[in-house]
Amino acid sequence: MRLFKKRRDIQGFITDLHDKKQKIGFVPTMGALHAGHISLVQAARQQSDFTVCSIFVNPTQFNDPKDLEKYPRTIEKDLKLLEQQGCDAVFYPGVEEVYPSGTSSPPHYDLGRLEYILEGKYRPGHFQGVADVVSRLFYTIDPDHVFFGQKDLQQCKVIERLIAMNPDFSRIRMHTVPTLREPDGLAMSSRNTRLSPEALKKAPAIYQTLNYLKQQLAPGDLTTLLETARQRLITGSFRPDYISIAHTHTLEECTYWDGHTPVTGLIAAFLGPVRLIDNMELV
Ligand code: AMP
Repeated sequence: MRLFKKRRDIQGFITDLHDKKQKIGFVPTMGALHAGHISLVQAARQQSDFTVCSIFVNPTQFNDPKDLEKYPRTIEKDLKLLEQQGCDAVFYPGVEEVYPSGTSSPPHYDLGRLEYILEGKYRPGHFQGVADVVSRLFYTIDPDHVFFGQKDLQQCKVIERLIAMNPDFSRIRMHTVPTLREPDGLAMSSRNTRLSPEALKKAPAIYQTLNYLKQQLAPGDLTTLLETARQRLITGSFRPDYISIAHTHTLEECTYWDGHTPVTGLIAAFLGPVRLIDNMELV
């Protein structure tokens, strides 16, 4: 497995691969890798000739400086795991390499309503940061296929929009990979390592609440269902940011369900100091 820290170096390497008609699969991550990330790497290996994974904790997508500071970093372990899993190359740049002109005057991306709803509402600026870093990584890696996790569904929608908006990215095919879960249903996340043993026992309540929404969903007004779900989470020691049933395509809130439009349940909630998110297609 090749390790690159400089943009120039990986760009040169990838240009040679394109010349040899190799298809590049790209998996962007922030490291602290778990089996969920590895499922993206495996999907990339299946779809492409050469798999690149990036590990970069992007400062511009953290609206809370404490969250950035506490974000787990396990680079040695990550590199070993990626090598074992057959990843071909890792891009592990420093902040100055990704942002050579600094981070103080970022470009603005038109992300429409996605920027302001759900995660966008509770993490102002987050998706601008995501759009900027992913855009920079796409220019560097020049991939044919990119792989993102459904766990971050709204992020997937942002990336789809980013690709659609920029003709430079027209070659890129986006793949959304299903959420990998622990046996108890908890969605795998780098942030789970920050949960205490006691919190880990409580954490699957998010998944259970999503299942509850799925079972109880019925045509008509959804207010009571959402309020019951909120109370379940609060009883389970969570402090919810949002519990939403949204139209699957736009992620706009659905308050009255017609009985057939595809809808998805989305939850973001704090358990102690750790903020967890998850989602599930309900219909
Ligand atoms: P992160 O390192 O958290 O930025 O995640 C990197 C990529 O892995 C993103 O596309 C995530 O959506 C994806 N991912 C994170 N957790 C999971 C999971 N449990 N199952 C599948 N993909 C995941």
